[in-house]
Amino acid sequence: MSHFRRLEDMHVEGKTVLVRVDFNVPVQEGVISDDTRLRAALPSLDWLRERGARVVLLSHFGRPKGHRIADMSLAPVAPALAGLLGEPVAFADDCIGAVAQKAVAALSPGAVLLLENTRFHSGEATNDVDFATQLAALGDIFVNDAFSCTHRAHASTEKLARLLPSCAGLALARELDHLDQALGHPRHPVLAVVGGAKVSTKIDLLKNLVSRVDILCVGGGMANTFLHAMGKPVGASLCEADLADTARQIMDNAAAASCTLLLPVDVVVAQKFAAHAPHRTCGLDEVAEAEMILDAGPHSVAALNKAIDGAQTVIWNGPLGAFELEPFDAATVAAARHCAHRTKTAGLVSVAGGGDTVAALNAAGVAADFSFVSTAGGAFLEWMEGKSLPGLEALKS
Ligand code: AMP
Repeated sequence: MSHFRRLEDMHVEGKTVLVRVDFNVPVQEGVISDDTRLRAALPSLDWLRERGARVVLLSHFGRPKGHRIADMSLAPVAPALAGLLGEPVAFADDCIGAVAQKAVAALSPGAVLLLENTRFHSGEATNDVDFATQLAALGDIFVNDAFSCTHRAHASTEKLARLLPSCAGLALARELDHLDQALGHPRHPVLAVVGGAKVSTKIDLLKNLVSRVDILCVGGGMANTFLHAMGKPVGASLCEADLADTARQIMDNAAAASCTLLLPVDVVVAQKFAAHAPHRTCGLDEVAEAEMILDAGPHSVAALNKAIDGAQTVIWNGPLGAFELEPFDAATVAAARHCAHRTKTAGLVSVAGGGDTVAALNAAGVAADFSFVSTAGGAFLEWMEGKSLPGLEALKS
């Protein structure tokens, strides 16, 4: 996905530009608790304002499913964004119709307007052409700057891009360039690290990766299903026994594609799924009936670190153990730190993404040292699965 139109290709001077952002920010008691997504929009907004464009922002917030729900209004976001921009941000109580038209008409060059939640209209989620046409009537150009929303074929992410001259914003383009470096056109050898709870949620991802990477490290709860498929005892561990055939198929696909599969060679087990539960490290044949595998052992981490040393590119999704519970975060933290170290000292390209992955890298204190960390959940996974993302397809040149 490297051939898409970019902001730099557009003539925005004096135009009204509709920008799709992801302002679906966490709010606690009316206060935005994490403004990362607002900050992500600033480069495009500054770029447009410097060129005298009138900027109209579109976003969803929550899942109101076509209804007006007061708690899901974007109104509190306008003053927060104004604080970051250092400029007033106007707000319109609807994203289409007379209210929106009047607010857009009142904009002077360089001014910014935030429209109300697109999902207050049912036409958003159904990708309705009439709704998208009403959005398109508000501007001259469409800029999508929300990678996290590109896996959805919604009116403000897909149809609208086909109704106006459209391009990727600066944040979206930056994200796509990094993702392309990791999986589209990476430097080999490429190592993929895939952890997390279940194989069932990542079958497509594993199947896609074995044909595209040189080494695939499977960790976390999902590795237990592979160990079970290999005839190893997994005791009371999280394990999807019904997916043993799927695990075997993925192992066969890996062998056929000359992809080395890296599974745990030792494990940390406990009888309780709790922080600081009494635990021990053991070999794969030594897990007792009552024990749960909660982390990878030190020999497994050493093998992964060696693979990281040999890799030019690492792509990472999912923790290697129950990382929320100390000390079962040890393998994830150690490998993440090693990956960050190689990124800083040896030119390794390291790209990570997915909700729990970001939390795990933050807990290890290394998120800033990876080449790129994507905060997009569903879109990042679908991209890793090799699926085409409707919001991106609509921007292809
Ligand atoms: P996912 O959303 O699929 O990336 O899964 C992340 C979750 O997997 C985290 O909440 C981890 O605690 C959990 N997890 C990872 N390894 C294990 C394990 N060995 N046993 C139980 N849960 C695990």
